[in-house]
Amino acid sequence: MTTWTDYHVHTQFSCDSDVPMETMCRAALTRGIAEIAFTDHADFEPLDVCSGYFRPERYWEAIRRCRDLFDGQLTIRAGVECGEGHIYGAKIAALLATGDYDVVLGSIHWAQGRSVFDEHLFDGLTLDEGLTLYFDELAGLTTQADYDVIAHFDIIRRATHLRFGMQELDLTRHEQQVRAILRTVARRGKGIEINTSYRRKGIGEPGPSVQILRWFREEGGRIVTLGSDSHAPDHLAGDFERGLAMLREAGFERPTTFERRQPHGG
Ligand SMILES: [Zn+2]
Ligand SMILES: [Zn+2]
Repeated sequence: MTTWTDYHVHTQFSCDSDVPMETMCRAALTRGIAEIAFTDHADFEPLDVCSGYFRPERYWEAIRRCRDLFDGQLTIRAGVECGEGHIYGAKIAALLATGDYDVVLGSIHWAQGRSVFDEHLFDGLTLDEGLTLYFDELAGLTTQADYDVIAHFDIIRRATHLRFGMQELDLTRHEQQVRAILRTVARRGKGIEINTSYRRKGIGEPGPSVQILRWFREEGGRIVTLGSDSHAPDHLAGDFERGLAMLREAGFERPTTFERRQPHGG
């Protein structure tokens, strides 16, 4: 059996999950996971219902307890998923000073006051204008924020699916802009994740697409993690077989892992 490394998992320390960390650890053991990174949400965008929800003290208490409980069975990495790190840099820096985090995910959840999960992102915009708006925000994040791995790089597919009924998104017309963003990530020695929650959310294949993964490799990218973006135990390592196949199709050997923000493998 493959032993998985699931690098994007939420627990009750995220406002949109009520699952105790210990429950996630037990489920991880039954689902072939050898290493798990708990990346609860730290969002500061005032429009976000989860804004300011994350409590580092309670999170760290649970991490320490679970590391004791599952010692020798499961490698537990401390992580956090930070929204719009290019805008909320000071708050995120204060948060990261609360402990020795292993991995920091950088996410875009909002672009110019529009939720990227919502088809209303495209209100008043054409498909191409909406994509440009999203990738402009992502460019700001990848250039300026403190992160190790960019989460759900093409999450805009959710909105293009809802608004335009698209299962896939060919970014050829945006290749220059997307490659420039990937080049920035690669040159900073950072990575991107393959987020396998897309199929669960009805958007199709895990993201980003093999098209983007190949561009990342061509631009010098070497760090790719696998993450289920689980908010419930049953979702852990979901669709990882396909995620791993995509990683290999794009020329990467294996998923990267992190310890104290240093990448291993890949
Ligand atoms: Zn996210
Ligand atoms: Zn997430």
